[in-house]
Amino acid sequence: MGCASSIHISDRVVYHSGKESEDSHSPQQTNATQHQGNPASGLPLKPHSCKTTLTEVQFGPMKLFKDPLQVLLVFAKEDSQSNGFCWACEKANYRCSLAHTPESALECFSEKHHDLVIVDHRHSRHFDAEALCRSIRAVNSSENTVIVAVVKRPDREEASVMPLINAGFNRRYVENANMMACYNELLQLEHGEVRAQFKLRACNAIFTALEQSQDAIEITSEDQVIQYVNPAYEAIMGYQQGELLGKEIIEVPKSEKNKPDLLETINTCIRKGKEWQGIYYAKKKNGDNIQQNVKITPVIGQGGKIRHYVSINRPLNDNNKSEKSSERVQAESQTDIQSRSSQRRHSSMARIHSMTIEAPITKVINIINAAQESSPMPVAEALDRVLEILRTTELYSPQLGTKDEDPHTNDLVGGLMTDGLRRLSGNEYILSTKQPHHLPSHLATPLSLNDIPPRIAQTMETEGSWDFDIFNLEAATMKRPLTYLGLKIFSKFGVCEFLNCPEATLRSWLQVIEANYHSSNSYHNSTHAADVLHATAYFLCKERVKQSLDPIDEVAALIAATVHDVDHPGRTNSFLCNAGSELAILYNDTAVLESHHAALAFQLTTRDDKCNIFKYIERNEYRTLRQAVIDMVLATEMTKHFEHVNKFVNSINKPLAALEENGGNNDEESVKSILTSPENRILVKRMLIKCADISNPCRPLELCIEWAGRISEEYFAQTDEEKRQGLPVVMPVFDRHTCSIPKSQISFIDYFITDMFDAWDAFADLPNLMQHLDNNFKYWKGLDERKLHSLRPPPE
Ligand code: AMP
Ligand code: ZN
Repeated sequence: MGCASSIHISDRVVYHSGKESEDSHSPQQTNATQHQGNPASGLPLKPHSCKTTLTEVQFGPMKLFKDPLQVLLVFAKEDSQSNGFCWACEKANYRCSLAHTPESALECFSEKHHDLVIVDHRHSRHFDAEALCRSIRAVNSSENTVIVAVVKRPDREEASVMPLINAGFNRRYVENANMMACYNELLQLEHGEVRAQFKLRACNAIFTALEQSQDAIEITSEDQVIQYVNPAYEAIMGYQQGELLGKEIIEVPKSEKNKPDLLETINTCIRKGKEWQGIYYAKKKNGDNIQQNVKITPVIGQGGKIRHYVSINRPLNDNNKSEKSSERVQAESQTDIQSRSSQRRHSSMARIHSMTIEAPITKVINIINAAQESSPMPVAEALDRVLEILRTTELYSPQLGTKDEDPHTNDLVGGLMTDGLRRLSGNEYILSTKQPHHLPSHLATPLSLNDIPPRIAQTMETEGSWDFDIFNLEAATMKRPLTYLGLKIFSKFGVCEFLNCPEATLRSWLQVIEANYHSSNSYHNSTHAADVLHATAYFLCKERVKQSLDPIDEVAALIAATVHDVDHPGRTNSFLCNAGSELAILYNDTAVLESHHAALAFQLTTRDDKCNIFKYIERNEYRTLRQAVIDMVLATEMTKHFEHVNKFVNSINKPLAALEENGGNNDEESVKSILTSPENRILVKRMLIKCADISNPCRPLELCIEWAGRISEEYFAQTDEEKRQGLPVVMPVFDRHTCSIPKSQISFIDYFITDMFDAWDAFADLPNLMQHLDNNFKYWKGLDERKLHSLRPPPE
């Protein structure tokens, strides 16, 4: 349907006819250039074709795009005034319709909803302009239309515009047919009232957003008089809009659950123009308290002053959601995903906030929750997954079974990283118990460092080198390398001086400890302890380690290395738990072996003054030393492997690397504070003993092969026994008939060694170890590629 009588200026082609004309401003046609109108010379209109362009209007953070203006001229008769506006429309690139009667004007307006209507008000005998204006205003869509009355030039007194305003006119135009005057008027209208109305129209979208929001939103004036609350606010708080609007915020009852000075804090903050965000208790109409995450934003308006406060409130507990708002969640299917996710966030917040004591993890979760509130949905959802993970207890244990792990990795990890609590078996097999070893008679007389036989002393000459051959020492000492190497290394580090103990006591102690290692174990015997002691001493000589640790830490590390596997039965924790061994029962299936090593070490040391190396130190020093030794021995437990490595990397390597990146190499103070903080020293010591404990893949190839053979043999013996006793087989790949040792070593290196030594090397600078590791790994790969299962290739 078109207008009864109209002039359409569209795409700058002027139709001046009394008939219907085609509407030619479909959206595709509105993109185009600036107008190239006639100069203001009063030249007659020339139809010409040219595309129109959208105007961009900025409205706060919103971008609005405006079609060319639609203008309706209502003139009973065409005259110079109507022609003036027609020409001006064409020049300004507006679309113009001309109606001659109120009826056709209304019809045309109902169809096109013009932005601007210019009504001839000069000749009351033709039609009643004010009545027409009222009729146009009665059409719903006219709210944002600007209506102008063209009035006669007053010959005597200026008349009041009030009747025009009452009729619904926005403005009057005193007749002036000069084309340029018409044009200027149109431009002022466009850039003034029409543009303002255009922006106001966009407010509808914004209000729709507010009305649909799941958050309770309240807007107040600068004096904190409530101006707006949205339906979610009504639903959550139990008020009707009418009960709140116009009320001062202080008139609304407050919850007593907030801290007394909270309101004042909030007010001080927002009155300074700063946003406030935090947890706040509000009181519902029915008197219930509701905990909300509240964000109050001051909005700057006229005069650069705060003109409104916008408060966005999210309940922290799903139970607080009223039925109305949960119905809304169901109804608004488009926002389902979003609302589900935010509900999830609310409930996690609720769980956290219901905790009274704030643990570090609680703080972390709170920070993430707060960050989620202002994050885009993909980030918020990713953070949801982060929260899920954080809520699990095994934060540092990689999850197996997600990837296609090979059976060697699975078995090793299963065997080393789980304990009885996660590997339950109903088997009640109990290992026989035994009394601690006393000194064997031939070792009862302690030897002195001075009377170490020359062959042994000679073997130990290369002790300072990483490539030191511990197996030579094992042979030379008849499987008592720990005592001899211990004497040498402890003396080198001045342990007796530190402990203020006679060398004889140290010797006795070393002998007792060594006697309690099982020489029958192929791997976990005193040679392994001596090897770990050797690696520990080697690491303690590294510059970074020296910078980090105090003498007491060094002494603790040497003692811990010496005792760390004492009385090891040659079976894994899982085995002991499955077998229901006394040790597993004693230690509740948790860190069974490591707890036993540490406890037994102190029992053996302190039960007899002859070997009590702690007898001569002060009580406090003993407590510190004891604590450090226990911590290090427990750190060798493989269930905590990733925890220790990750903590070390995050707390030490990353901060050091960040300092270096910032050119802070010379920032001695910062480096020192990272290296020597008590927490970080603990992490360094744990990492040190862990690396020493499983450093065999970083030893020279021959030594590495020997260790691999020994650990494999110990695992095979366990599998044999599991089968014999009908126990669950913890590591089925370690079956002596089928096992590929190269594969098992590749898995062990891949899973436990590479990352850990990368981190340790980054800290302590150990290029020779890394080189060996690389060689050894290639060696095992080479065997595996040849499908060999053995330790060495068969002789050619
Ligand atoms: P610990 O019992 O204190 O010596 O802890 C180290 C763990 O790593 C032990 O469970 C060993 O069985 C294991 N392990 C050490 N070296 C190897 C290796 N070369 N291959 C497989 N497992 C090893
Ligand atoms: Zn060990």
